[in-house]
Amino acid sequence: MWDYSVTLIATDSSAYRLLPLRFMRMNSGHDRDILLTSETGEYMHITDPQLQALCRFEIKPDTPFYKDLLARHFIYEQGGHDPVPEMTAQYRSRKDFLFQGPALHLFVVTLRCNHTCQYCQVSRAPLGGSGHDLSEADALAAVDRLFESNAYALTVEFQGGEPLLAFERVRQIVEWVSERNVVEQRDIQFVITTTLHHLTDEILDFAKQHRIQFSTSLDGPALLHNANRPTPSRDSYERTVKGIEWVRERLGHNAVSALTTLTSRSLEQPKAIIDEYVSHGFSSISLRPLSPYGFASKSAHRLDYPIARYLAFYKEALAYLLEINQQGVYLSESYASLLLKNILTPFSSGYVDLRSPAGAGTAALVYNYDGYVYPSDEARMLLEMGEDGLRLGTVHQPLPELLASPVMQALLASGVAEALPGCSDCAFVPYCGADPVEHYARQGDPVGHRAFSSFCKKNMGLIKHLFGLLQDGDDDVQRVLLSWLNRRSYADVRFPGYGG
Ligand code: SF4
Repeated sequence: MWDYSVTLIATDSSAYRLLPLRFMRMNSGHDRDILLTSETGEYMHITDPQLQALCRFEIKPDTPFYKDLLARHFIYEQGGHDPVPEMTAQYRSRKDFLFQGPALHLFVVTLRCNHTCQYCQVSRAPLGGSGHDLSEADALAAVDRLFESNAYALTVEFQGGEPLLAFERVRQIVEWVSERNVVEQRDIQFVITTTLHHLTDEILDFAKQHRIQFSTSLDGPALLHNANRPTPSRDSYERTVKGIEWVRERLGHNAVSALTTLTSRSLEQPKAIIDEYVSHGFSSISLRPLSPYGFASKSAHRLDYPIARYLAFYKEALAYLLEINQQGVYLSESYASLLLKNILTPFSSGYVDLRSPAGAGTAALVYNYDGYVYPSDEARMLLEMGEDGLRLGTVHQPLPELLASPVMQALLASGVAEALPGCSDCAFVPYCGADPVEHYARQGDPVGHRAFSSFCKKNMGLIKHLFGLLQDGDDDVQRVLLSWLNRRSYADVRFPGYGG
């Protein structure tokens, strides 16, 4: 076992009572090797004797340790200050995302694509393929669903295949949404996820008019990118880089961001991938592992890799990122930034995969090209693998009906991390999430078994590593991490000023 939760009974003479808490041995080599976390996400690093004394109700009220435990809601005094209102407010802040409906709406306007990426081979259709585009009637109905969400800030993201191959549908949807929004008055952000290979002046003019952002894929240097993303002309990298420059020239430097997909090949070159992002002036890089979706199982064997290999890659990459950030380059790692927000602030990053209750369906909806609605992009990719079990319904059903569907009920029943076997006792649960779709994809069961879960191994490894850096990293490392958290330059962050 990695950790234990505590439910102990105090005697009448005890000065304090315990509030719900969890703890974990970090194997840090540090004296204060036990991480103590509260239900609301506050944390302290303590020693073994301190933990034992805490559980035996032996902490003396006049000690700084006692006062810290009291202030951070690990203990309370009977008849003393009532901690419940403060904890309720903290819990409400951390779970604030529950008060709004789906904010991310993905429109899969076409499955057609000019690439033949191995990790995506079953979720694309040939360039000239028919029957793989979202119809006008379905697109219009999906726009109705979008505005049925009560979320004030909405992101409308166009996905594929390659969405620019169905640009007329993209244009229609943007125009319908913009027209409706004159009355609705929401804060709407449009994003097109694209290779940028099919850009035209007309597309860029339209994007400028509607302040559309572009998100592209850049897997690393030319050799790696072209190996990961084959096209008939073998120039995927060159065309994407040209597209990045073109978007920046017309819409500004920050109008395009990039994501990397890490194949087994990528894990051998963390520095080269990061150098590539530095050379193109990106301010963020996402070092996400390959998803187990979207490729046939025969390829999965070749493309997938053990999570331990990914973690070794990630740590090396993060060390390099910390080094170059100290030299004045601002390049944050996006997953670390999200986890830092969960750990160091009272708020949740809101990131779909790091939510409990799970974000699939509650935070995001996918309107597929065939008119069906899915709770996440991963769920619709399972469809392309022959699994249609995670469908919520069709775009013509009202949002409340989709969100009350049996699939949503099953996902929510297995999507509360605090109630899942393994997670319920884990000290990292305030910062982690539940991902029933991934567990369904990997283990055939949305609850899943954490001992064999890649999701758990990844988050366990990354959260532990970040806590290690926060506890033991020098001031310069901590300044970089804070600069990512606050999105400020390294030079602007003077005082780390946290820890425990
Ligand atoms: S998934 Fe997250 S919360 Fe659950 S056991 Fe793993 S690290 Fe802990």
